[in-house]
Amino acid sequence: MSAGITAGARRGLRIAHLFPELLNLYGDSGNMLVLKRRLAWRGLGCEVVEVSLGESLGFSDVDIVFMGGGTDREQRIVCERLLSWRDEIASYVADGGVLVAVCGGYQLLGHYYQLGGEKVRGLGLVDLYTDRAEPRLIGNVAVRSRVSPQPIVGYENHGGRTHLGPGVEPLGTVAYGFGNDGSSGQEGCLSNNVLGTYVHGPLLPKNPGVADYLLSRALERKYGQGSLEPLDDGEELAANKVMYDRMMAGAVPVR
Ligand code: GLN
Repeated sequence: MSAGITAGARRGLRIAHLFPELLNLYGDSGNMLVLKRRLAWRGLGCEVVEVSLGESLGFSDVDIVFMGGGTDREQRIVCERLLSWRDEIASYVADGGVLVAVCGGYQLLGHYYQLGGEKVRGLGLVDLYTDRAEPRLIGNVAVRSRVSPQPIVGYENHGGRTHLGPGVEPLGTVAYGFGNDGSSGQEGCLSNNVLGTYVHGPLLPKNPGVADYLLSRALERKYGQGSLEPLDDGEELAANKVMYDRMMAGAVPVR
């Protein structure tokens, strides 16, 4: 386990970044920089703990758990380790712990990821499952979600099709791109303080609303107070708008 910036005696959050050496597609690790920086701008501390395969982790003093995306091969590799933590992660989530998972990580939150005749077991934390189909769903994506005042913009590339159980809330609805399965119009999942999504890019730099949603949930759980000082997000929102406008002006119709 290697520590990043430490919080000292200040108020702050501890983020566990699971398997960065394996689950890190399309800049997913950049999400940690955004969380850390948005806390620092508000005078709050942040410790990012990178947890590699084979290292141990206690969930009792963790405030945000992050898992990025990975290839099918990498998902198979981390699956066993993740399952060995199933009970600890389930208790963390039941206690309101914030868990963010992107693409390959998102798929592993569910019951399983079916790869032809092979079933990669997931954590079963959220009532969802994933199967695989052709073609891969690749391209820019925009999602309207209650967690963000702006549409969430990013990039997706997955062979998996994720199907939510009847009671599971999606992160949002697809405004452009494919989302969970290319046909339901749903993207991601929201369950307790668990957020799953196919959005890479990475997710947070152009979507400050999502970053603050996660920080606010984690601060609320830790200190009983999750309100955040507003920041000047002019650049982030300009980047968001450029991408969104580009998508809306593109050939693929709005769903
Ligand atoms: N391997 C998974 C899929 O193809 C996840 C890919 C990803 O994380 N981008 O569906």
